[in-house]
Amino acid sequence: MNEYDSLRVQRILSARGYETTETLERADVIFINTCSVREKAEQKVQSFVGRLRKLKSRKPSLKIIVAGCVAQQLGEKLTEKFDHLDLVVGTRGVGAVGDLLDQHERNPRQQVHLPEDAPEDTFQEQDLPGKLSSKVTAPVTIMQGCNNFCTYCIVPYVRGRERSRSPGRILSEIQALERSGVREVLLLGQNVNSYGKGLTENTSFVDLLRRIQKETRLLRLRFTTSHPKDLTQELMEAFAELPMLCKNLHLPFQSGSDRILDTMNRKYTSSDYLKKIDQLRTICPDMGLSSDVMVGFPGETERDFEDTLQLIETVRFDNLFSFQYSDRPLTQSNGFSHKISREVKGRRLTHLQALQAQITFEKNLSQTGTLQKVLVEGESRSGQGQITGKTEQNRAVNFCGSLSEVGKLVTVEIREAFSHSLKGRLVS
Ligand code: SF4
Repeated sequence: MNEYDSLRVQRILSARGYETTETLERADVIFINTCSVREKAEQKVQSFVGRLRKLKSRKPSLKIIVAGCVAQQLGEKLTEKFDHLDLVVGTRGVGAVGDLLDQHERNPRQQVHLPEDAPEDTFQEQDLPGKLSSKVTAPVTIMQGCNNFCTYCIVPYVRGRERSRSPGRILSEIQALERSGVREVLLLGQNVNSYGKGLTENTSFVDLLRRIQKETRLLRLRFTTSHPKDLTQELMEAFAELPMLCKNLHLPFQSGSDRILDTMNRKYTSSDYLKKIDQLRTICPDMGLSSDVMVGFPGETERDFEDTLQLIETVRFDNLFSFQYSDRPLTQSNGFSHKISREVKGRRLTHLQALQAQITFEKNLSQTGTLQKVLVEGESRSGQGQITGKTEQNRAVNFCGSLSEVGKLVTVEIREAFSHSLKGRLVS
């Protein structure tokens, strides 16, 4: 979502004549979009802003903007701490960055802009976030915020309550992206399954998927993130029904221990989760699955951790994003007792990641000899005449081919498997 917001700001600033530079010294404006979901990300922001002080003193006309979740969370604390900072813009103010810069030109003083709410939709074709470097895939936000209040999560406090964009706006954004060459769209929301609540037109998430299938000519459609408690049978069936929808689901489970899931306020048990995975695999046996998991939640015992490992071994995810728990301000778990030491969290994470690395590699290995449809995204990082793309299940595949294939769906025979990618031969 931050990537989407950054692209949007890039477009807003381009419309005002700015160009992107890779060199800080050449910049007239430095826009820092921030994440506060983990403590480490927040620390990195503050240390980066601190390091810009020297640059600003050499170039007083430089404008430094901090936006996003850390901006929303800290507000004036940031301008108080960093007097070289020009603008602090909250999560619901990102669309106003251009106007705020204009105001700052006229009246150069520190400003903190944390609007309670953004107009439902400030999307304009000129601030279309469609110019990804590959131009083949693009994110589109369909909703923001979350009402779930998992006890460890800062999102409801910094992104606010759930707000869905209207289907008409989403459709016109996707159609504009198509005109700029995008062939695959990733729909974004903290909990896409509850899309549509509060809209005047009665639309569910599956209705939205069906409209996109009908009213666009995308090659592929993906979405993230789903909450296990809200994953419906209707959505599972949509994977089989809609040809455009990739058979790939990111479904965070966070812990395999029912006791920990309860204190996390996740509202499902490990057996509820496993049942949904079974249902999904019955409907689509070749479903690609990824997930998020956390180790070291307050009170997590060795037994709880073993339950997590057990769930991983049972599901055998294609890919897993794993993290150590860290206290976040405003959240309930911040005040929980029985915090787990850094050392134990580190040990558990290493153990879990080794298990998943083995599973990921074995799953990649099982792809050898198969034919896969690959959406070509561009030149492979290795160069050497190789191009790269993704399978429907989101595996990266590198193979020899011409850049004229970019944006096309091609068939590739998988010849070799690695830890994080596959190598193949272009068949057609
Ligand atoms: S559902 Fe996701 S975004 Fe919402 S509170 Fe829970 S972890 Fe945070």
